[in-house]
Amino acid sequence: MCSRKFFVGGNWKCNGTVDEVKKICCMLNNGEVPCPNHIETIISPPFVFIPLVKSMLRTDFQVAAQNCWKGKGGAFTGEISAEMLANLHVPWVILGHSERRQLCGETDAIVAEKTAYALDNGLKVCLCVGETLEERERNETGAVVARQTAAVASKICCWANVVIAYEPIWAIGTGKVATPQQAQEVHYNLRKWLDCYVSPHVAMNMRIIYGGSVTAANCKEIGANPDVDGFLVGGASLKEDFIAILNARN
Ligand code: PEP
Repeated sequence: MCSRKFFVGGNWKCNGTVDEVKKICCMLNNGEVPCPNHIETIISPPFVFIPLVKSMLRTDFQVAAQNCWKGKGGAFTGEISAEMLANLHVPWVILGHSERRQLCGETDAIVAEKTAYALDNGLKVCLCVGETLEERERNETGAVVARQTAAVASKICCWANVVIAYEPIWAIGTGKVATPQQAQEVHYNLRKWLDCYVSPHVAMNMRIIYGGSVTAANCKEIGANPDVDGFLVGGASLKEDFIAILNARN
């Protein structure tokens, strides 16, 4: 019997000022949300706001970085290492977000290297995968998601500290959300892939969350699917909507 705890991440991307961050933290701290026995929540502000958010945020919400370097720190100007995040007691990092894959040239191999290094340094990883619109139209969604996951599978053996976020690129920040059926189909097939190529145990226990234009209005229907274990939320994580999304299963 498996019970995958509902998991919701708020990805603030490159947004916010000190005042705005304080306001969002107050909004989150005042929100009525399910008890931590029923939900795991991560909040991912830009690096520079991590200490402020950690100092303000309720303790049942964990903090996540939006990226980290692929190996040990050193002469890599502008980068933040996994060791630094661990040193600051940041428990989670989001890796392989499509904006980093597409805008910063992060290949499957780089994302896999980052994932392995972050896990080795004690971080938990929210690994993002997902297809472009063109790939979906060519019926390549399953193959793309499998390829991205396989790259990581070739570098890690323990998946206990990984959550996979399926984020179709055509749905991110576009207001064009995947239908509940589309999300369920991809999550189901990814779980089947994990069952075949990683292990039945990993497949059964892996939280596979959906990301892409999730809002208070659509979260309940998507979240009701058996293979949708939560959400990664961009735009709506900066607003009161996020509290409603945390309550999607209520
Ligand atoms: C994201 O950036 O991970 C995301 C899902 O964004 P949005 O919710 O704004 O589509």
